[in-house]
Amino acid sequence: MIYTLTYESEIVKPMSEHEMGNLLEQSRKNNKRDNITGCLIYYMGGFIQVLEGDREKVSALYKKIKMDGRHKNIHMFSEDANVERSFPNWGMAYYPIDANTTNKSEFEQFKRNLLLLADLTEPKHLTAKLFWDRIKFLITNPPKDF
Ligand code: FAD
Repeated sequence: MIYTLTYESEIVKPMSEHEMGNLLEQSRKNNKRDNITGCLIYYMGGFIQVLEGDREKVSALYKKIKMDGRHKNIHMFSEDANVERSFPNWGMAYYPIDANTTNKSEFEQFKRNLLLLADLTEPKHLTAKLFWDRIKFLITNPPKDF
């Protein structure tokens, strides 16, 4: 069975598309190799990520992620053991939500799509449910600076 965790963090400084592209490329390659699935959301200055896989592999990755200087204030808000994957086909899905880098209508459409996805996805474990609940909360209650 599978171990899963979800955490939230804040960016240290805005990342360019190129920097984000490198991060995703590396993550997708590593996660495929380690059979880790999940989802990474960038939401207006912060990240939320859910990871699923073998316990040792996910814990080792989380240790690396916590030491990564590209973000700060990293805190895990849920974990579960012995569950089924909620993101079996998502090597590392990535959803950027940033009012500063997308035009208003795109941004609004993007938020609607993500809310729809959050409502339609059937979480297979509590950690996935809390992940989607947090996304919904942030979309409907955006941080003050944005
Ligand atoms: P390394 O051999 O350590 O590095 C490979 C290349 O990655 C380097 O040449 C460099 O270009 C780049 N790199 C590594 N660390 C940094 C850094 N701190 N700043 C700038 N460039 C760097 N990794 C995953 O494998 N899977 C994930 O799902 C994942 N999710 C992440 C989510 C967030 C929000 C962040 C900030 C990082 C995430 N990472 C993820 C990256 C992780 O923290 C490590 O950097 C990565 O796992 C190192 O991989 P490696 O040992 O193969 O690479």
